[in-house]
Amino acid sequence: MSHAQPASDSVLLDVRADFPALDQSVNGHPLVYLDSAASAQQPSSVIDMVAEYQAHDHSNVHRGVHTLSHRATEAYEGARDKLVRFVNASSRSEIVLTSGTTESINLVAQSFCRPKIGPGDKILITHLEHHANIVPWQIVCEQTGAELVVAPIDDRGQVKPDELRALMTDDVFLLGIGHVSNALGTVNPVKEIVRWAKECDIAVLIDGAQGVPHMNVDVQDIGCDFYAFSGHKMFGPTGTGVLYGREELLEAMPPWKGGGDMILEVRFDGTVYNELPYKFEAGTPNIAGVIGLGAAVDYLTNLDLDRVAAHEHYLLSYLMDKLGAVDGVRLIGTAETKASVQSFEIDGVHPHDVGTILDHQGVAIRTGHHCAMPVMDFFGVPGTARASLAMYNSVEDVDRLVDAIDKAKQIFA
Ligand code: PMP
Repeated sequence: MSHAQPASDSVLLDVRADFPALDQSVNGHPLVYLDSAASAQQPSSVIDMVAEYQAHDHSNVHRGVHTLSHRATEAYEGARDKLVRFVNASSRSEIVLTSGTTESINLVAQSFCRPKIGPGDKILITHLEHHANIVPWQIVCEQTGAELVVAPIDDRGQVKPDELRALMTDDVFLLGIGHVSNALGTVNPVKEIVRWAKECDIAVLIDGAQGVPHMNVDVQDIGCDFYAFSGHKMFGPTGTGVLYGREELLEAMPPWKGGGDMILEVRFDGTVYNELPYKFEAGTPNIAGVIGLGAAVDYLTNLDLDRVAAHEHYLLSYLMDKLGAVDGVRLIGTAETKASVQSFEIDGVHPHDVGTILDHQGVAIRTGHHCAMPVMDFFGVPGTARASLAMYNSVEDVDRLVDAIDKAKQIFA
């Protein structure tokens, strides 16, 4: 990896005690949770915040005149303010609250792209993408006659920069690209890629589901038009997410879903839509979840994401060294710049069997295609075993993983 290695383990954090779910035994062993790329555990501060809201303040937001509704609205909108600062958006109008990355990307496909593209236009993505950053574009291409173009990757799991650039032609309307690959951990140089795209007047959506939990993200510095992410990957509740969009673009986009809250006035002869960001937030939202997401932002901000990144880089290089040295283990995804994820396979053992044997030893990893079937096809495997790290993991967790893999190998020897 290109990241400078810390001289010692002094960068390591010790926050495990903040996460109650980690304090348990699974199959008779203390839990080692290495599946945070699928869903991260939540700190007590998030869990308590949600419980407090449910116990005392629950009510519907925005329309109520009574005290509970005021409290709920204040906490809900307060979370939006925290998210504005978290990714350095220019204003609250630019933070649309969604159910997750998937919904955020579909919103852009249907509201930004669909009205504007047709035959002869292209949507550009890369071979590294999660299905959530593939299928919404396939759907909009089917609906409009536009073409989906895929930039290739190399055998370390990196997008080939020259080829990506060569595909940025005049007829490309939008580039959809992941910040960090969930299957391989590859970090894309998104700021540079956005600069290339802007030279060709191409809109850029970044799938940041695996970006925000691991590094400081400044959407204005990156220069992207849209940045999508999910609450549950960043230590918040499931069913919450964000679409950051540049105000000028969101302003010009039609609503995607219709219903309550996204309107100012409804008559049978026409409806006036609400202002941003509410134009894109139809219906009663996930109030408790969003309030919990606000608490997750507080947790991450207090901890300092640069420290989190340093901790995880240290652990990832330790994991890659240890795992790479095990006989019969092949690391899949060895990009120059990586974050927090390592896919691997063990000679002669199906990934699902690896996952099951590890679970028997209290080690939770993910196995399968990781919603990135094209990546699996590229490496010629049906799936991989994947260990993903978060701030609460430790050197001991990695050692337990390696010991458990040794055991799995003995069982299948
Ligand atoms: N993109 C990436 C890179 C992801 O890792 C995920 C979740 N695995 C998604 C998109 C979809 O996120 P969600 O299911 O929270 O909408």
